[in-house]
Amino acid sequence: WLVIEGRKVLNFCSNNYLGLANHPRMVAAAKQAIDKYGVGPGAVRIISGTNDLHIELEKRVAKFKQVEAALSFQSGFQANTASIPAMVGREDVIFSDKLNHASIIDGCRLSGGKIIPYEHCDMNSLEQVIRENLPNFRRAMIITDGVFSMDGDVAPLDQIYEIAHKYDVLIMVDDAHGEGVLGRGGRGIVDHFGLHGKVDLEIGTFSKAFGVVGGVVAGKATIIEWLRQRGRPFVFSSAVTPADAAATIEAITLLEESTELVDRLWENAAFFKKEMKTLGFDTGVSTTPITPIMLGEAPLAQQFSRELFDAGVFTFATGFPIVPLGKARLRVMISAAHQKEDLEKGLEAFASVGRKLGVIQ
Ligand SMILES: *Cc1c(COP(=O)(O)O)cnc(C)c1O
Repeated sequence: WLVIEGRKVLNFCSNNYLGLANHPRMVAAAKQAIDKYGVGPGAVRIISGTNDLHIELEKRVAKFKQVEAALSFQSGFQANTASIPAMVGREDVIFSDKLNHASIIDGCRLSGGKIIPYEHCDMNSLEQVIRENLPNFRRAMIITDGVFSMDGDVAPLDQIYEIAHKYDVLIMVDDAHGEGVLGRGGRGIVDHFGLHGKVDLEIGTFSKAFGVVGGVVAGKATIIEWLRQRGRPFVFSSAVTPADAAATIEAITLLEESTELVDRLWENAAFFKKEMKTLGFDTGVSTTPITPIMLGEAPLAQQFSRELFDAGVFTFATGFPIVPLGKARLRVMISAAHQKEDLEKGLEAFASVGRKLGVIQ
């Protein structure tokens, strides 16, 4: 729940998937870190900005995700703009899913490499662009979101791996919406597909399910060491604060202790989606807790969102150019922090506004 201009509204558009952003143990960990280390890192990591917590965080992420090493960044956005230019140069080519996140697109542009998009999650299209273009470049990398944030569908990483392996191309996956959500106990998309050791770079963020702020790259030790030297936002921008690092470590501890929050997230999402479908709403192609409510035209999505807000439910309406023309929608983000009564309240509001606006009968 949020208070906006004095009104209490149900938060249906936060990335706080597991409710960790306000978890008492996370808050306590952050406070302790402030007491011990102060509020700021004081420098970039490679000068004197690194403290025990940054190092512990990287070790803990590597263990959690079963990779050789991990490097933390100030955000997921920075992790992408750091890694792609470090891995790809002017002589190289990037095969990029058409619906990739803006930070991937910016990272690709900064790299100076040739960017060749392929049709969203379409393996025939991916293989075709690789076959046509690979011989003209030194090296190649496939880059994809893990979970696509507007539709909630999951990249077919197992098939992407088969193709990458066949043509000897690197793979990078941005698991921002999969971290803490997919895989055993929230270990992410690589764990979900059992592809440990087969994906060259796994990008993650601590700002979504982990409830804090920060980014990470996980993968082979050689690659991580290279990024430590060549990832410009790592080298030239100050580290996350001690409180951020400590809270993120606590998030990993909580996830390692129990799968309860991740399980509840999926139960809540399944319940909400099932009830929305029963009401007659189109929830698109999502297979994750991201739940788009497809409405067609942008003015309808905006009006729907306003009426929901009046009914005490805060959702995110989006249209072109964030999503294709005619595919305007509301995007509902389900969380483990939602109680059953909250979901029921949300469903009631959707039902009454949906009937009023003629979206459902
Ligand atoms: C949210 C998101 C990011 C950015 O993460 P921040 O930590 O908020 O900077 C990057 N990539 C994808 C796919 C995202 O969904």
